[in-house]
Amino acid sequence: MGGWNIFYGLINFAILAVALFFIGKKILIKGYQGHRDQISDALKQSEASLENAKKLRDELPETEARGEAERAEILSTAEAAAAAGARRAREADRENAEEIAEEAEKSLRHEKLRIRRELNEKAGEEITAAAAEQLKRPEYAEKRAQLAERFAHSLEQQLKLTPGEQMSIRSQGSVKLIIRSAEPLDEVLVEHLKETVRDHLRAAGLTAGAAHLSVSTEIDESLVGGICLKLGDTVYDGSVAGLLQRARNRISHAENADTELIEALRQELSGLDREPDVYQTGTVISVSDGICRVSGVSDAMAGELLELEGGLRGMVMDLEKDNVGVVLLGNYDSIQEGQKVRRTGRIIEVPVGEELIGRVVDALGNPLDGAGELHTTETRPIESPAPGVISRKSVSVPMQTGIKAIDALVPIGRGQRELIIGDRQTGKTAIALDTIINQKGKDMICIYVAIGQKESTVAGVVKTLREYGAMEYSIVVSASASESAPMLYIAPYAGAAMGEYFMYKGRDVLIIYDDLSKQAVAYREISLLLHRPPGREAFPGDVFYLHSRLLERAARLSPEAGGGSMTALPIIETQAGDISAYIPTNVISITDGQIFLETDLFNSGIRPAINVGLSVSRVGGSAQLGAMKQVAGRLRMDLAQYRELAAFAQFGSDLDKATRQSLHRGDRMTELLKQGQYQPMEASDQVVAIFAANEGFADGVELKDIARYEKGLLSWVRERFPSLHDVIMSGKKLDGEQLEKLRAVIGEYTENFE
Ligand code: ATP
Ligand code: MG
Repeated sequence: MGGWNIFYGLINFAILAVALFFIGKKILIKGYQGHRDQISDALKQSEASLENAKKLRDELPETEARGEAERAEILSTAEAAAAAGARRAREADRENAEEIAEEAEKSLRHEKLRIRRELNEKAGEEITAAAAEQLKRPEYAEKRAQLAERFAHSLEQQLKLTPGEQMSIRSQGSVKLIIRSAEPLDEVLVEHLKETVRDHLRAAGLTAGAAHLSVSTEIDESLVGGICLKLGDTVYDGSVAGLLQRARNRISHAENADTELIEALRQELSGLDREPDVYQTGTVISVSDGICRVSGVSDAMAGELLELEGGLRGMVMDLEKDNVGVVLLGNYDSIQEGQKVRRTGRIIEVPVGEELIGRVVDALGNPLDGAGELHTTETRPIESPAPGVISRKSVSVPMQTGIKAIDALVPIGRGQRELIIGDRQTGKTAIALDTIINQKGKDMICIYVAIGQKESTVAGVVKTLREYGAMEYSIVVSASASESAPMLYIAPYAGAAMGEYFMYKGRDVLIIYDDLSKQAVAYREISLLLHRPPGREAFPGDVFYLHSRLLERAARLSPEAGGGSMTALPIIETQAGDISAYIPTNVISITDGQIFLETDLFNSGIRPAINVGLSVSRVGGSAQLGAMKQVAGRLRMDLAQYRELAAFAQFGSDLDKATRQSLHRGDRMTELLKQGQYQPMEASDQVVAIFAANEGFADGVELKDIARYEKGLLSWVRERFPSLHDVIMSGKKLDGEQLEKLRAVIGEYTENFE
């Protein structure tokens, strides 16, 4: 800096010197020609110039010094900036380091858990094997005999034929009874068992069957002691081996082995003379593509959980006369024909509870985020009936998305079902995420169900939610594209079950199904594998029921029923904007409105790309804030008119003033409704912005300046009219006085805006 100052000083000096020279020359030539006045003027001027030049020369060192000071200042600012940058970089590094450490810790925890489980399993196996050896020894003979007797006694109470079994006995006219034991049984005891069964059959009116009771006794040393009886499909297991097996299962699920292991074993074994374990079994008769057919489980319910060999689980999907179709939930490589299947008697259920908040789980509620086991104590069936008419209340509380175009034009209320529909890459997920982010501090629990998405996409969503502090009140349920169709099929129901837990406890829940078209495709796949007849677009006829029973579970409960709410935002992907395809029309008819996103709008920079004409909210209007209703009332009409005019105006240039004015304001409104991602807006701010544009305050603002105008306006109004926020949030309309004041404040801002 200093160098330049000196340079300019010198140039000034040189120019003055040259000027002096010319003036001097002029004086020499013209000096004697009588122009004395001019000469004296020029002289005076030159003298002044000289003086100036001198002064400049004198000031040079000073200027230089000033330059020096400036340079020093700049240097010091630069240094400070560099230091701050370095500090920031260091901090960023530390954050990175923390992230890495967190990641490492997570995988460590994961690994620990895995090893722990493996150890437990092994320990369980060894301990139960040792216990079995011990119990086989002669000194326990008496105890074993007692066990058999006690079993025979308790069977009298336990024996029960399920309706399915009774039916098959009737149709077949006979029933098989198998009595297995480790040691040959006493004749009297066997006779007693047979008599018990006969009595029971007679009591059930199956006398014909009683005559055809075929009894076989088997010796199976692996049972160690006790009796295992099978009548029809039902097993009554009172054997030591069965008991040990149960103990082993418990041990392998104990998290803190060592103490728990011993305790669990002791508890199980102290129950040696407990009631027998009663369960129905079946046999795998065919397997293919993740579907198997099982015969024998005559009383299985639709949606029931079955246990297959090797711990694999399956869900009953198809009920036929003599077998059931089961979809396998997990790796089914080891399943073969002839394997035994055990009924659990329970509809598939998932863990529910506060514990889930902040977690990422799969469709069965198993943690996916490596943050340790869930310690939930409660579970809920994934399918449960939707609340009835009496237990519902109408939608009247807003669910703010924080997106101007939605809260103003297609308002959503708590308990509503609003569909987000559009082609791929039109910002569907973005709307859902912004809505979740906007629920911060609003006492809302958010559940994001990812169905058939790439794992990396889901990881991105979780990362975003974490970044914005939204995981603190959110649950992510993920059935990614790599998982089997049944997992994709049940994921939304699992999410709904988790949400219902909170809803019935009086909490407000927001659930997002991203997206249901993939669920429908998964369901189609399962149905075709189950040989159900395909219908329109190869979907089975009941695909409507697939979505309707899911979305019906969204509700706003009356205070007597719990008082909570569940707002559902299902997402559907369309092909080439075709909302009249099968699945889109179904879901449109089930929901209370839709937000239609369009590729053309998205590509022309209108984001969120909401097609205002085709988007509706059928019930949300009654939940809209009073002030918002007031300012946005005419907006939809105006925008529709604007778009029509805009389309029309493309063809002609001679437009009357009113049309031009409409177009002009519409342009501004459209610009104002644009909103970036992750920038949800308070309802009060939305009202102010829309009001300003509506009232024409933004008419004088260039389109490119609208965003800047809005930003400044909002902070201006917040500063000058601080009480406005509470008025708007209270849900009341603005009265004349408040409107006047708002107008004045906005007017003042607009005047000063440049
Ligand atoms: P897909 O069909 O792949 O699921 P999608 O419809 O869910 O896509 P998004 O993933 O939400 O769409 O968005 C597509 C892209 O558009 C993303 O890169 C996202 O960042 C961007 N985007 C979405 N909304 C906005 C917005 N309001 N402003 C700017 N960019 C946006
Ligand atoms: Mg998406």
